[in-house]
Amino acid sequence: MQDQLARRLTEIDDRIAAAARDAGRDPAELTRIVVTKFHPASLVEELYALGVRDVGENRQQEMTAKTAETAALVDLRWHFIGQAQTNKARAVRAAASVVHTVDRARLADALDRAAEPGQDVLDVLVQVNMTDDPERGGVAPDGLVALAEHVSGCSTLKLRGLMAVAPLDEEPARAFARLHGYAERLRAVAPEARWISAGMTGDFTEAIQAGATHLRIGSAITGPRPLRG
Ligand SMILES: *Cc1c(COP(=O)(O)O)cnc(C)c1O
Repeated sequence: MQDQLARRLTEIDDRIAAAARDAGRDPAELTRIVVTKFHPASLVEELYALGVRDVGENRQQEMTAKTAETAALVDLRWHFIGQAQTNKARAVRAAASVVHTVDRARLADALDRAAEPGQDVLDVLVQVNMTDDPERGGVAPDGLVALAEHVSGCSTLKLRGLMAVAPLDEEPARAFARLHGYAERLRAVAPEARWISAGMTGDFTEAIQAGATHLRIGSAITGPRPLRG
């Protein structure tokens, strides 16, 4: 198991580095997040032993449980990449180092209010919805600038950039080119918000080409996800 995991991790990192070089970029400027959703905490421990320090989860309860189980791994960073309910903001903030999915002012406010005294500023990204389906999460592109300005006004949050999932029915390269345009729009109002969280197992090469800085890769590294219980 561990051998296979190590092999897949190396293979993906090699492909990331090659895609970065093809795009004229330095692989060192990319953060590869391993998405561990549905997998047990033991997989997170195996990944940690292989040098992984950034992992991603899309459900708050699962993330909270796994952070507790892996509490000894103090320099492990948890990236929250799922839709967050406002009433779970406190639990999300307690577990996550980065929240990629801020898509409404109410959620930003809830995360801001959830700061404990003396707690570090929380890195957040604004998620933009690249489809017409509001169920997919993310702010509509038209609302991006207003939301970014709102987040910038939250004193315990640090706006780092933009996150998106490419639509199923659009060429990834085309979708990520659009995303690049949204990222420029964001930087016009928040010049330090330079992160672009984009690219999954099926489209990370295109995402790197379009300027992604944070890749969220699951099954290509972990293998197929177990079915949800
Ligand atoms: C599950 C998930 C991923 C990883 O997907 P893979 O196709 O397994 O790489 C990336 N981003 C989000 C938001 C996810 O929910």
